[in-house]
Amino acid sequence: MKSAFILFLFLSLFISAKAQNPAQAENIFIITTDGFRWQELFSGADSLLISNSQYVEDISIARQLFWDQDPMERRRLLMPFFWNVISKSGQIYGNRALGNKSNAANPYKISYPGYNEILTGYIDPFIIINYPKLNPNTNILEYLNNEGEYHGKVVAFSSWSVFPSILNNHRNNLPVNSGWQNMEEENNDSVYDLINKVQDGVPIKNNTRYDWLTYLNAKEYITQHHPRIVFIGLGETDEFAHEGHYDKYLQHANAVDKMIGDLWYFVQTQPCYRNKTTFIITTDHGRGKKVYNWSNHSLFTDGSAQTWLAMIGPGIEPLGEMKGKQQIYQKQIAATIANLLGQPFKSEHRIGQAINLPPVQQMADATVGSK
Ligand SMILES: [Zn+2]
Repeated sequence: MKSAFILFLFLSLFISAKAQNPAQAENIFIITTDGFRWQELFSGADSLLISNSQYVEDISIARQLFWDQDPMERRRLLMPFFWNVISKSGQIYGNRALGNKSNAANPYKISYPGYNEILTGYIDPFIIINYPKLNPNTNILEYLNNEGEYHGKVVAFSSWSVFPSILNNHRNNLPVNSGWQNMEEENNDSVYDLINKVQDGVPIKNNTRYDWLTYLNAKEYITQHHPRIVFIGLGETDEFAHEGHYDKYLQHANAVDKMIGDLWYFVQTQPCYRNKTTFIITTDHGRGKKVYNWSNHSLFTDGSAQTWLAMIGPGIEPLGEMKGKQQIYQKQIAATIANLLGQPFKSEHRIGQAINLPPVQQMADATVGSK
């Protein structure tokens, strides 16, 4: 009897320890913003670019919005969620000025190879261009969607229309809402109806939907269905940069920060997600470092492999800006996601090793500081 009681005590301790394991996430949201440079993330607006009339229509207003002499203040003006919230409760990798480096390991340094690397953990030498060919490589989203606990609870939204091919939902039936695809209305849902109408009314549609529409679709789906693994691929930071509009690039990075902050607030106020959900935020490639080439990125443009990575939630010790000398790669993200969930990720291809995350000391609670 006594030994049964001790066994019961031991088991209940074990179960409660597992339920509260601060190193594990139950849900993961992966958010990417295409081609957003580490330079702006860590130092805010660039002094030469924001004052250049070739790239900025109204230098005076752009400076009122995003300029400050102090780079710490400047980055907070541009990305307040990153520098008010993630910098206190999460981790931000990639400030090369401090020797902390995050890179694309693939040699091509454009979008499809980058997203393939992030989501499959594998550098495919034959994924070279952004043509929408069906990806032969198994990605972490479909792996989780096909396996027990997360089956049917994985979803992807993207602004760029190539994602159905990158994720190959022809093969794996992963639900993907991408480009200018409408959401299928369930139960006469008026929110989807409204978003669909706005989408249909956009007169000129290129390959990238407005990020706000992508975000609103994602948030509505999350509200209704509580998916456990969510991918949101935002695209307009890259579009404005390619067009050479540094002002719009900054404004849009600020909008992306707002979307992510809005989603984090929503998640942290829902019992099914609160303190059980980790956000992984990154970009697919860097861009040129110079005034003449900041708008481009390619195999031959120096700076194009330089990325960044931010994480917040269970499993992520609140260390803020990562200052130690370190090198991480995009190909490590897929295995890191699996590790955070306590799940395996197996595939027919090699997978980059998970990032060696600093050990978690505290219980994940975003409100810890304010209590
Ligand atoms: Zn691009």
